[in-house]
Amino acid sequence: MSHTRTPVVTGWFAGEGDDFRLLGTRCAACTSVFFPREDTFCRNPGCDGGALKEVPLSRRGRIWSYTDNRYRPPAPYASDPDVEWQPYTLIAVELAAERIVVLGQGVPGVTVDDLAVGMEVEAVPGVLNEDAKATWTTWHWRPTGVTA
Ligand SMILES: [Zn+2]
Repeated sequence: MSHTRTPVVTGWFAGEGDDFRLLGTRCAACTSVFFPREDTFCRNPGCDGGALKEVPLSRRGRIWSYTDNRYRPPAPYASDPDVEWQPYTLIAVELAAERIVVLGQGVPGVTVDDLAVGMEVEAVPGVLNEDAKATWTTWHWRPTGVTA
């Protein structure tokens, strides 16, 4: 069975392997960085507004907070009701350069017992779900001490 790899959201990440990056936008006037990307207007209340340009974000950051999710998430998260629900970790990461916090799932197999506040993690390509239409891709956070 061949599946098209399709981002679950368009324009939030790009690349494969070591080139994988989350994509945000940066205001040309005040240099604020936004993720999820802001393409309409700068959200900095002290800024008169500037052009918003897409920028790749830091690949690495440190865990700010984390939890685990033992429940099937609601839409827009795609999940197959016929497949047994697998709990996953949900990690809030402060990006190294931008100092903004980005939520994401931990890589499969990582549990809350493997995580600690302040631990370094990196964004890696991940699969959110597979169905008849596509393999839906997303990003996962992986502790930098873990290979594979
Ligand atoms: Zn601005």
